[in-house]
Parts: sequence; C-alpha cells; structure tokens
Amino acid sequence: MERIDNPTIIALDLTYKCTLKCLHCFNSSGEHDNGFKEMTDDEILNFCDEIILCKPSTLCLCGGETLIRKELVYKVIKKISDGTNNHTAINMVSNGELLTLEVAKKLKESGINMVQISLDGASPETHEWLRGKKGSFESAIQAIKNLKECDITVSVSCTPTKKNIHEYSKAVELCESLGVQSFRAQPLMLMGRASKNLKDYVPSYLDYLQIRKVFNNHIKNNKSKMITEWGDPIEHLTSGAMDWDRKNIAVNIDAYGNIEISPYIPIRIGNIKRYSLSTYWKKGLNDIWSVPFVKSICKEIKSAEEMELNNKYSTLPKNFIEKQLYIDLVDTENFNSLTLEEILSKWSDKSE
Ligand code: SF4
Repeated sequence: MERIDNPTIIALDLTYKCTLKCLHCFNSSGEHDNGFKEMTDDEILNFCDEIILCKPSTLCLCGGETLIRKELVYKVIKKISDGTNNHTAINMVSNGELLTLEVAKKLKESGINMVQISLDGASPETHEWLRGKKGSFESAIQAIKNLKECDITVSVSCTPTKKNIHEYSKAVELCESLGVQSFRAQPLMLMGRASKNLKDYVPSYLDYLQIRKVFNNHIKNNKSKMITEWGDPIEHLTSGAMDWDRKNIAVNIDAYGNIEISPYIPIRIGNIKRYSLSTYWKKGLNDIWSVPFVKSICKEIKSAEEMELNNKYSTLPKNFIEKQLYIDLVDTENFNSLTLEEILSKWSDKSE
C-alpha cells in the first residue's frame, strides 16, 4: 500500500517541568526523576529544520508547562512559521500561569496559531482541587484574556472528574463569555499521576452523558460560535485495531527526543538525536500500525480506563511511572515483524 511521504501532524514535548503538579497529569510532569536529559535548545532548534522539510499541517508544542522554556518557544514558532511560509499551524498547550500579556504579545509576533489553556471548572475551588495551587484558576482566566487581547485563537480543555460534572454548564458559559473559540473535553485517562490520585473520581457513564447533554444544549443555543468538542484520546489506538492498513500520519516526540508510538504506550521506538526523523519514517514509522506488537497492544485497549495496560501484558511498564521500554526501529533487525512477546524478551533500557 502507498504510504505518505511525511508526517502531517507532529507533537513535540518541550519539557516535563511544570509550575503545577496536577492530580491528573497523565505524563507525571513535575516529577520526572528518571535521570534522562531533556533536549537542549540547540537540539530542538536543529530538529525544527526537519520539521520544516516535512511541512506538516500541524505542529503541537506540549509539555509539561511549555512556557517554562518561553524563549525557546518563541524561537521554535518563528523558525517554523518562517520556514514553512505559514503553512504549518502551530499550536501550544499551557496551564496559563506564565502567560502574561507580554508573553501573549511575543507569541503573536512569533506566529502562534492557537493556545490551549486548561480550565477544569467554573470556580476556583473545583479547578484548584485538581491543579493543587491556590490562584491557578485566576491565572488561567487571565491567560485567556491576555490571549484574546492579542487576537490569538484560544481553546480550553476541561478534564472531567466526579468533582466538576455539576459545573460543566457554567464552565461552558464562562468560556463563551470570555470569547474562547473552542471548549474541549475527553474521558479522564487513568495514567501517570491520575492512576495514583483519581481512581475514586472517575466520572460514571451517566456523568459523561451529562457532559454530552451540556454540549448538545450549547450547540442548540449557540450564538457565540464557540465550538464544543468531545474527544476520544485513544481513538488513534482503537481505530488501529479496526484498520491495520491505515497510513500513519502523526509523530509524537517526547522531551528527551524519543519517538513515541503513542503518548499512551510505554514503548519508545527511536530517538531524533540518533537518526533523522525521515530515516525513522521511511524505515517503518510511516507504517507503524501494521507492526505485530503494536497491533497486539491496540487489541488490548478498549477504553480510556484500561490505559494502564496491566491486564494481559502485565510486564509492560506503567506509562510515565516506570521507565519506558526502548527498542530502536532503525537498529533492530526485523523490527517490522516483531511480536510483543519478542519485544518483552529482547528489550533493554536504552532510552536517551
Ligand atoms: S496537567 Fe499540565 S499543568 Fe498539570 S502538571 Fe501536568 S503538564 Fe503541568
């Protein structure tokens, strides 16, 4: 089957440092005590040359709190928007704590397209219970206002828990009044810190239906044009189980330079400091969903709640809690036919 030449979506984690230590953080940001070194500014800026060659439709800068490396953020945005002649939409994720008006202006000047801010309710009590810091609600609201003042598109993500379902309607209204362009929610993922902290706060099926109802009402009455979006965080994994021949279109790079199959699978299959992205892409990253061990994992995943992957394959590490497995797609003979059993027997910890 024909494969596409380059990834069309690239997600790049800039850091796992964070100003917050949220109860639900799926990648355990703020406590990556694993001895690995995050990529330097130069390494990331060099990687931008590769991104420019790929000319993806979207680049997402993620973390951690991206603005902890704000000078780097400006340089990356500027380099990519200039290098692709504004072809690539550049989005970033932030908790808003460091997003002053001055920072918003610089993001705009650099060429940012959209910033996603996290807001987990309509009151300080609800938001700050999850975020663990007094004042974080006000910071998020102020960040939204600063972005709006600079005419930057704002998306808000609201993580559902048992504590905030009752506030969804008000949170949607609040964001609408602030001029937010899209309001997103997705099922709570019991991974990373969430798996330690939030087992008792997972919304029920009826709770999720309640959110859908709020969204439907919003769509019916929407005068402001704010979009409400319900996302499925594991859709890229479950759809793999339905269509093994589908082309891969996306690449996720962690802050150490490791290439992820998915941020939710604890196996890294390369490192951009070792070989170029295009080498990995051509050697099999473009066809990753057809690799037997990837299929085996996808078949095990049925819902966001199962994301700890400790059912059938209990030997897999817990993602972002234990060290991830590393097996290099380029260096490993017969990578494209490896089974999960072989991976588990062969793997050694060689993460960069
Ligand atoms: S959820 Fe976001 S803001 Fe919270 S600790 Fe993780 S990266 Fe930081």
